[in-house]
Amino acid sequence: MVLRMSRLMLKTLRDDPADAETASHKLLVRAGFVRRSSAGVWIWLPLGKRVLENVSRVVREEMDAIGGQEVLLPALLPRENYETTGRAGEYGDLLFQLKDRKGADYVLGPTHEEIFTQVVKDQCTSYKDLPVILYQIQTKYRDEARPRSGVLRGREFQMKDSYSFDTTDEGLAEAYRAHRDAYIRIFTRLGFDYRIVSAVSGAMGGSASEEFLAPAAAGEDTFVDCPACEYAANTEAVTTVVPPVEGVEHGPVEELDTPDTPTIETLAAHLGVPASATLKNLLVKVDGKITAVGVPGDREVDLGKLGEHLAPAVVELVTAEDFEGRPELVRGYVGPQGLGIDYIADPRIAPGTAWITGANTSGKHARNVVCGRDFEVDRYLDVVTVRPGDPCPRCGAGLRLDRAIEIGHIFQLGRKYADAFQLDVLGQQGKPVRVTMGSYGIGVSRAVAALAEQTADGQGLCWPREVAPADVHLVAAGKALQTELALEVAEKLHAAGVRVLLDDRAGVSPGVKFTDAELIGVPQILVVGRRAAEGVVELKDRRSGERVELTVDEALARLTG
Ligand code: ATP
Ligand code: MG
Repeated sequence: MVLRMSRLMLKTLRDDPADAETASHKLLVRAGFVRRSSAGVWIWLPLGKRVLENVSRVVREEMDAIGGQEVLLPALLPRENYETTGRAGEYGDLLFQLKDRKGADYVLGPTHEEIFTQVVKDQCTSYKDLPVILYQIQTKYRDEARPRSGVLRGREFQMKDSYSFDTTDEGLAEAYRAHRDAYIRIFTRLGFDYRIVSAVSGAMGGSASEEFLAPAAAGEDTFVDCPACEYAANTEAVTTVVPPVEGVEHGPVEELDTPDTPTIETLAAHLGVPASATLKNLLVKVDGKITAVGVPGDREVDLGKLGEHLAPAVVELVTAEDFEGRPELVRGYVGPQGLGIDYIADPRIAPGTAWITGANTSGKHARNVVCGRDFEVDRYLDVVTVRPGDPCPRCGAGLRLDRAIEIGHIFQLGRKYADAFQLDVLGQQGKPVRVTMGSYGIGVSRAVAALAEQTADGQGLCWPREVAPADVHLVAAGKALQTELALEVAEKLHAAGVRVLLDDRAGVSPGVKFTDAELIGVPQILVVGRRAAEGVVELKDRRSGERVELTVDEALARLTG
């Protein structure tokens, strides 16, 4: 069917919505693709729904191609399952919770590992029933703290989630690989500029989890990118290259009077030394136990990285109360020497290196505090934030830090969920075998906004072909003659399988129609205007802005070729 704007429920807006910060949010609202219902909850209007469907179609085709079987599970789920796995607590306030009339606890699913595990437990009993890949494209609910950025971060959103079930680790690796390849095809077809980054540090097992990131200024994720080689990583996954330590003899520890220097900045300024010569000690609680984390003074502790390394232990910052009854812990003047608590350090605090650090006395610091001589490190962890210019762990070039939107995530879960629900199948030897799982997500609705972020220009949206709401935006710019010819061309294009959006609105000026066409962002704009009587039309490429005058037949040949 030709989509006729004279009948389409579409109202484009001149002005940006007041609350919108990102380009995609502004443009998707202005072009009439989406409308806000409540915070983080969106209405998909006809044009937006078409784009959303196109993304879903591509995802579906590629999931089917790797043997994925589509199912549809409920969004309304018993809370109990999320308690079994401990995720009710992990998700915390992110979880939408409700009670039914009998008082039973439910949640609106934020992601579906729990219930998929149970579906397979119910349906698959023998190793012969596996491997299996199940997927759905479904509505997810997360009570996000900051549902800004339009559909980029919704509280209700569309996700493709799939789950693989295997009896062997090799099987899981294969399912993971198949998903990775499918994601490459999906994001390429959708028209994304994207990177695949390792999502967790080596400590957790390298390629066990990777994220697909779409670089964009509006992104909430930061990732490191090497300008010289292929290396890209989540900032939490970057491994630090530590410069070698030279064998220098250091003098004895010397105490320094450093009044009013509780921060590294005040200390470095007071002593006239670079911050990198100082040792900063952050106190945290690891499962409630006070622990010091030492990093060079010019670096910050990345609490995400620290948490990742120490999981499942819970890492928290200390509060004022934690210092009560602990006179040995002197706020702002902590040093690792003789401290008597666990000491985690960045690898730069290598044996033989000397530091200026707290003297564990108010107003005093100590110089020549040597690692391995004056204090010991209990555990080395890569916990500092990465900085632009840090060496690439692969090639040594200076790293860049860029913003991106997470559009997909693939994860080798292993047996965590199978253990929680005792998911076994009968193995070849007649004994039960514990199943191993993978979980794989794509933000379908987020992908629409992420594509808008990456492709929009000063005039408006600018869709890649595969997701555009139509192939051709046909503008009847004139009176009855133009409208008649446009209708005729539209029917011919339609008959040839070309998706047409026809602007046949009466009483709307050509100028307004052109502006709307630019804003809506269909890849080809065909204008039936001034020279309609001669059978001449104008074809404009939305992205390049290039325009050519063609006869109707030439235009048809181009657009259907
Ligand atoms: P984020 O870090 O952005 O909150 P996540 O890592 O929690 O995302 P996953 O649990 O990995 O998200 O979910 C799979 C995919 O679903 C993500 O890669 C992302 O594309 C999408 N997604 C997650 N949260 C949202 C949201 N609030 N709105 C829209 N899409 C989302
Ligand atoms: Mg993720």
